[in-house]
Amino acid sequence: MTTAKTPNNFTELGLISPLLARLNELEYQQPTPIQAQVIPSVLTGRDLIAGANTGSGKTAAFALPLLQELYTNKREGVHSGSKHGKGNFVSNLILVPTRELAKQVADSVKSYATHFNGAIKTVCVFGGVSVNTQMLALRGGADILVATPGRLLDLISSNAVKLDKVNTLVLDEADRMLSLGFTEELSELLALLPKQKQTLLFSATFPEQVQALTQELLNDPVEVQLQSNDASTLVQRVFTVDKGKKTALLAHLIKKHEWRQALIFVNAKNSCEHLADKLYKRGIIAEVFHGDKGQGARTRILEDFKSGEIDVLIATDIAARGLDIEKLPVVINFDLPRSPSDYMHRIGRSGRAGEVGLALSLIDYEDYHHFKVIEKKNKIRLEREQVEGFEVDEEATKELLEAIKPVAKPAGTGKKKRKKALSNHDIWLRDY
Ligand code: AMP
Repeated sequence: MTTAKTPNNFTELGLISPLLARLNELEYQQPTPIQAQVIPSVLTGRDLIAGANTGSGKTAAFALPLLQELYTNKREGVHSGSKHGKGNFVSNLILVPTRELAKQVADSVKSYATHFNGAIKTVCVFGGVSVNTQMLALRGGADILVATPGRLLDLISSNAVKLDKVNTLVLDEADRMLSLGFTEELSELLALLPKQKQTLLFSATFPEQVQALTQELLNDPVEVQLQSNDASTLVQRVFTVDKGKKTALLAHLIKKHEWRQALIFVNAKNSCEHLADKLYKRGIIAEVFHGDKGQGARTRILEDFKSGEIDVLIATDIAARGLDIEKLPVVINFDLPRSPSDYMHRIGRSGRAGEVGLALSLIDYEDYHHFKVIEKKNKIRLEREQVEGFEVDEEATKELLEAIKPVAKPAGTGKKKRKKALSNHDIWLRDY
């Protein structure tokens, strides 16, 4: 495990001047912790596994050294097996789970390569749009291909691209890729890649599936895990509220704090519309972002949200994956995410790259047990707070909690357990 040590500037990381010039223009003052650890390791050519959220600066962490290697090799005339030439070969492959993330990553890569004056060819492919333009873009191959798994397989089957000469593979947001059901596509793709290559795997969480993938794919990797780096930039809070008052509390908070660019998570497409309607009735205009929106609408909504035209965006997890919105001040869990790892992903949208952000969860009695599981799995413990004017009805809540209490095991139950359960209820209600 590498220990966190943050060099003060990018020069110390061994980056070359065209990249340094670009970082200067982008006003990246100093490397983020993940960049400080990942960049030098990638430059040594070793495999790497890194625990990193969106917002940690992970894109630059892998994109900068990849670009540097490609550019220096080209300048020195090193044409290893990676030369793409006529055969539609790709030298570096970056796999991402969603189209939004694909675009963001490709845009970042292109931006970092500004001063290479077109020497590096980056192509981005993803589903939901016409395949023809992407096929055309892949003619003659690419130095860097950013792709979602499904579309990449389509392109391979129509011979528009070949993976036999991939030098470096990046798996970005590996956990999301697997949790979105891309396991089969991923195995198919991995089988098409050469055995000899550098592999970099980035994941916010490490469930079993990711660990298995790591074992299968990585060869003596450098491990980079940041020591709860996000804690300093992200404040997590939990407000308990009666079920019937959740929307009112949300509206109250949005108005009171005059939040701009608040991202609200719900668990279903129709909940997006439903909540937007209810907020509208309370004088708040919110836009919705979910899987039924076409690509054009998604892009437009995202741009409007980024530019500040839309203040409040209500989204489902699927749609919101990989969103890169700079300095998002607040992320709200109106519905709790189903999986504890999704909680970490959601809150990773806020407080990015050194900005202080707020991740707020609104929980009613039905969420109580589930939130405890989220805390346990993520090794966090948050104080339950109540908002003035929205205090929970303690007596009613105790009864409701008692009614939905998980069924106790037959043996060894009795007064003791019941007492414990009740004291848990008290904890839920108390400000402590
Ligand atoms: P990422 O985690 O790659 O999605 O990056 C999150 C955001 O941080 C992006 O908008 C980047 O442009 C920005 N960023 C990345 N590295 C730095 C840095 N060293 N200094 C300032 N901003 C950065």
